[in-house]
Amino acid sequence: MVRFAGIQKTSLIDFPDRISTVLFTPGCNLRCPYCYNWRIVLEPKGPYLSEKEALNILRLRRRFINSVVISGGEPTIHPSIKFFLKKLKDEGFKVKLDTNGFFPETLKECMPYIDYVALDVKTAASKYRLLGADNIDGYLETIDVLKRGKIDYEFRMTVVPEIVEEEDLHDIGEMIRGAKRLALQQFIPGDTLDKRFSKIKPYSEKTITRFADRLREYVDEVILRV
Ligand code: SF4
Repeated sequence: MVRFAGIQKTSLIDFPDRISTVLFTPGCNLRCPYCYNWRIVLEPKGPYLSEKEALNILRLRRRFINSVVISGGEPTIHPSIKFFLKKLKDEGFKVKLDTNGFFPETLKECMPYIDYVALDVKTAASKYRLLGADNIDGYLETIDVLKRGKIDYEFRMTVVPEIVEEEDLHDIGEMIRGAKRLALQQFIPGDTLDKRFSKIKPYSEKTITRFADRLREYVDEVILRV
């Protein structure tokens, strides 16, 4: 069974066109320096919400929300998350999964119970080491699985200076070529894992718009969330 490190009872932005409740799983395989959920990544500690408690809250909130987002941390480091996703489906909720994509086998097992996937595109393949990843084979497989699959999805990229630079865009575009949707999200410095990133100046809207224009060469649709 999975236990949850946090809950956001109402979100208008996490599931496109839906009002959702977001559940956060503890732990992550990566160490993105700009991570703002680092407390549940590095040192998850209770109080946790059990599956049963989470389901009870969701049932009580059914009048207000019609969907559930499973986020993290990284939900797919917990192979048993698929059993919880099935329970959500059985209860009639629409389900979205946020993932960094490093565990394609778990993702494939989850797919029967998911309506929407948001896959992180963090940077060019050669720079994933900045996030603590030595090997991105699993991630590349996930890109392929989603592009070939039937589930609606978006790839989403938080445009963090240093991590995503103009000269990376070509490699990023090639890595995700043919994807149907890429959302570019503004980086909001705050309480980040590496404190240096809390002082980094985000890109201007003009710069992100230019990035979007370049990435349109590679994917069907680019959405701006800036
Ligand atoms: S993948 Fe997400 S949760 Fe994990 S370290 Fe990176 S930003 Fe944080």
